[in-house]
Amino acid sequence: MARSLSDFVSSRANAVDASGIRKVFDLAAKLKDPINFSIGLPDFDVPDVAKDVAIDAIRSGQNRYTPTQGIEPLRTRLRKDLTAEFGRDVGDVLITSGVSGALLLAILAIINPGDEAIFLDPYFVMYKHLMSMAGGKGVAVDSYPDFRFHADRVEAAITPRTKLLILNSPSNPTGIVMTQEEIDAAVAIAKKHDLLIVSDEIYEPFLYDVAQGAARGLPSAAKSYDRTLILRGFSKSHAMTGWRLGYVAGPAEIVGQMAKLQQYTFVCAPSPFQHAALAAIDVPMDTYVADYRIKRDLVFEKLSKKFRINKPQGAFYIFPQVPDGQTASQFVTKAIEKNVLIIPGNVFSERDTHFRISYATTNEKLERGCEILNALV
Ligand code: PMP
Repeated sequence: MARSLSDFVSSRANAVDASGIRKVFDLAAKLKDPINFSIGLPDFDVPDVAKDVAIDAIRSGQNRYTPTQGIEPLRTRLRKDLTAEFGRDVGDVLITSGVSGALLLAILAIINPGDEAIFLDPYFVMYKHLMSMAGGKGVAVDSYPDFRFHADRVEAAITPRTKLLILNSPSNPTGIVMTQEEIDAAVAIAKKHDLLIVSDEIYEPFLYDVAQGAARGLPSAAKSYDRTLILRGFSKSHAMTGWRLGYVAGPAEIVGQMAKLQQYTFVCAPSPFQHAALAAIDVPMDTYVADYRIKRDLVFEKLSKKFRINKPQGAFYIFPQVPDGQTASQFVTKAIEKNVLIIPGNVFSERDTHFRISYATTNEKLERGCEILNALV
């Protein structure tokens, strides 16, 4: 019997459900000049120095494969900086095609069929789908209503198959930043149950309430637990989402396996942009972060009048609760009818009670959009 084309599609591909986010984009496609709160990237552009270095790199012939691990000066610099930040040698560094690339390689390197990884719900969608692509199981631990790390709930979700604890701080979609106490609790669980930690810190520079500066404020498991893979990148910090630059640092045994898998998948991260990223490290981004703190305050203050919200401490997302018993999907449909694009919580969660706003846009749009959302309640 002849196969229909859908018979060629693997159960792996079929298991990935992108319908939630697609619905938003389908609705959005019909809008003219919407107030777009759905985009997960900064509204500033790549720093000029980084652009110049990328162009020079292209012109001077840096257009070939780099070593799979990435160019040596960038790896060395990142290792040095992370070692200074965490007060211990963080291990090996691998340059990846975005943090997405690092996540895929980490999960492929660690997860056997049937193995489990725990992360908090709401979660960054990729965790769940990468786990299922690898034949493993993503276990989402409910963190409502405060989105904090509840050690008792996490511990209750551990089984003999649990191998990995995925932390994401600052969080997409809640903007929550884990406190040092929460990090300590997570590390204690990882030690007790023999787990590896993947710490997704892609929003690391976007911290609004933690002391910043030379000593860098983000509490991280990497500081006290050497079985941590630190994942960071340049997509958000330097607005390079299209340049696909991320990195992982951690124990050589694991990072080496990831490098081997990179050799047979991505091969290497884009060559000219690795050079540009090295230059970008030295560009101060503090004024952007200060701008985003103002945006965070603006949106929080406006929407708090009508919505229940946990004040975010980082990233550029806010995750308010939909009032009056309607689902988030219903509310989002109404908002889109009023030309405001937001994402329903069920894209990031087993629940459909909240919605995500990305406030990486102009203050004028934030003011107008918040007024429209408030008027819907
Ligand atoms: N982790 C989180 C939490 C994210 O929000 C994103 C991007 N939206 C990524 C990882 C991946 O980013 P990139 O591949 O662009 O580095």
